[in-house]
Amino acid sequence: MRLDRFLCETTELTRSLAKKAMHRGEVSVDGEVIKNPATQVGETSRVTWNGEPLALVGHRYVMLHKPEGVECTARRTLYPRAIDLLDLPHLERLQTVGRLDVDTTGLVLLTDDGQWSHRVTSPKRRCGKVYRVTLAEPLEGEALSRAIDAFAEGVLLDGEEKPTRPAELVMREPDVAELTLFEGKYHQVKRMFAAIGNHVTALHRESIGPLALGDLPEGAWRELTEEEIAAF
Ligand code: URA
Repeated sequence: MRLDRFLCETTELTRSLAKKAMHRGEVSVDGEVIKNPATQVGETSRVTWNGEPLALVGHRYVMLHKPEGVECTARRTLYPRAIDLLDLPHLERLQTVGRLDVDTTGLVLLTDDGQWSHRVTSPKRRCGKVYRVTLAEPLEGEALSRAIDAFAEGVLLDGEEKPTRPAELVMREPDVAELTLFEGKYHQVKRMFAAIGNHVTALHRESIGPLALGDLPEGAWRELTEEEIAAF
């Protein structure tokens, strides 16, 4: 990797500030001051900036139990952002893998690995997302059978050109559903239940593919294990 890129990856410096730091003679590779930003450095290079050793961190993969009132967005808004709940360096590089609404709780994944994020969200990979859905009206009998069939076939949501992909609906209680989606359209769960004349009063995401929240408390986060990362 080029030395200027290495500096951007390992510090808060932008490409142009990294070049200036090099120009001022602040950057050394294997004990030698280097001013050429195109110099190649590898895993074994000892790079320092103002005498401080720098090391590549690698990609980060995190799961968060999102509480209500937190937004899955990169820009600052009225609400705290999901990344604001984490205590990690270079937070601005992390992005949520898909989004939950501000009033939805549950499992959110964050990473700075765009390819991994794409693998998790791509509908082609059929990575099921399980939601616990609390409904305003109980769903039973004939209405339930119709809802199961409609969701399995796909529902044409307002403003969409294609129906939703087949989804799996199971009732846990008359007014608490478990819905498994294999895609992520805007407000999808709420819009699907609205399409069958019901209303979602609370929404919680329990799992994404093989990853479940388990006993991670609300507001808490943890890094994923190697096995969990490799599972996608
Ligand atoms: N569907 C919704 O309606 N909201 C969410 O937050 C996630 C899925």
